[in-house]
Amino acid sequence: MATKIPEAQNRLFKNVFICSKCSSKMKADPQKILKGKIKCRKCQKSQFRVSKKK
Ligand SMILES: [Zn+2]
Repeated sequence: MATKIPEAQNRLFKNVFICSKCSSKMKADPQKILKGKIKCRKCQKSQFRVSKKK
């Protein structure tokens, strides 16, 4: 078994976004994020950044 499984990593990280205002994590469809349909539960902002490890 390979330790790196791209698909699993995508599931873990690709659909997770961080609110750029309050840094709360949101799991959402990237397409919806891009279209601005998703709002942060806490601050109602629709500015998100992708959660990625460097
Ligand atoms: Zn927020």
